Amino acid sequence: MSDAERTFVMVKPDGVQRGLIGDIVSRFEERGLKMVGGKFMQISEELAHDHYGEHEGKPFFEGLVDFITSGPVFAMVWEGQDATRQVRQMMGETDPAESAPGTIRGDYGLDLGRNVIHGSDHEDEGANEREIDLFFDEDELVDYERIDETWLY
Ligand code: ADP
Ligand code: MG
Repeated sequence: MSDAERTFVMVKPDGVQRGLIGDIVSRFEERGLKMVGGKFMQISEELAHDHYGEHEGKPFFEGLVDFITSGPVFAMVWEGQDATRQVRQMMGETDPAESAPGTIRGDYGLDLGRNVIHGSDHEDEGANEREIDLFFDEDELVDYERIDETWLY
């Protein structure tokens, strides 16, 4: 596959509690992205601070850390052509209320603080690699061919 790229995606605690993991995984699978890592986990306070470090000091920061550590998340790595940008497009805007129907946030949310999913920022150079490294060890990521790749690329 040319231009294969990996990106970090996570179903947030609200998405897990609402039973949206399967739907979200399906959307990326059907789009033609390939899961190369997946982990159901509880985020520690420390990992939350590292992951959302860019927002430290902002008024919503403590609430964001409380929220992301409030229950389990499903962390994933997805691979495909232009994966980081494509995932962000499928997620919608940061604010679900501003997200188009058909996007994940636009289909499942109304509130900015409860926006179901995280995906690496494609406008932040290297954010995908940084976030993958933060959440996954190298041996937790799997190299393999998906059978439909021939027809997708
Ligand atoms: P995104 O998740 O779309 O990359 P940001 O990186 O700007 O958005 O923000 C990270 C997360 O912080 C958002 O997904 C959202 O959960 C939360 N957040 C951002 N801005 C606000 C805000 N003004 N009020 C409450 N929560 C916010
Ligand atoms: Mg962001």
